[in-house]
Amino acid sequence: KTIVVHTSNHERTAEEVFAGIAHEIRNPLTAIRGFIQLLKPDLIEIGKAKYVDILMEEIDRTNGLISEYLGCVKPSPKPRKIVSVQKLIADFSFLFESEAIIRNVKFSVNFPNEEIHIKANETQIRQVLFNLVRNAFEAIEEKGFSDGEVKVEISTDPQFACMTVYDNGIGMDEVTSQKMSKTFFTTKENGTGIGLSISRKIIEEHGGRIEVKSQSGVGTSAAIFLPLKEEKDNSQN
Ligand code: ADP
Ligand code: MG
Repeated sequence: KTIVVHTSNHERTAEEVFAGIAHEIRNPLTAIRGFIQLLKPDLIEIGKAKYVDILMEEIDRTNGLISEYLGCVKPSPKPRKIVSVQKLIADFSFLFESEAIIRNVKFSVNFPNEEIHIKANETQIRQVLFNLVRNAFEAIEEKGFSDGEVKVEISTDPQFACMTVYDNGIGMDEVTSQKMSKTFFTTKENGTGIGLSISRKIIEEHGGRIEVKSQSGVGTSAAIFLPLKEEKDNSQN
């Protein structure tokens, strides 16, 4: 069998690689799901219907994770609208709350009183927060101590809405913090190394930036800055 090596004069971008990976995983998953469905009547007959449901749920969960991590690279348009930062975070912080309970980590969100608005694609910003909070939980797990705490703080400066994720986890040394945003850089056994690079790209596309401060053995803060918007402002920028 001949192996064809495609050489092109442009290196594949991270997006193209991710879209490819997502596609390659989804295809067999769809097949697996289909065959399980086919087997369901036989399994019900022998009293194993429950396992079918668990299998389906796990497959759907895996599909969800693929979307969470790789979905933002689908080349579909990502409409932005003016959203309240408080609402955006409040709508999905229950996800973190339940994970925090499972992990025995203290989790809190600090909401300011006055509404803060940004113009953004909610799904993408959620994905960024999801990545940062996940890293925070994992940093605590790696430190392996019992007083883990993750805090999300919302604030503003004259031009930016700021969402900061604090953790008192393992922190980063000099080398790690220099490399952390590189695509595929990871220090974790089962890491993908794509969380921060995707996050940075999404935030920069929104005209913002991410600032990470870390101290080895002490903890990390990751701050997302996004341009503020007036609620009534419907301009395209
Ligand atoms: P992954 O989580 O799959 O390793 P990321 O891009 O999310 O990929 O992070 C890259 C690396 O940056 C991590 O492997 C870790 O070494 C470091 N890192 C990121 N966030 C934190 C954090 N909150 N605390 C300590 N290290 C972190
Ligand atoms: Mg990560």
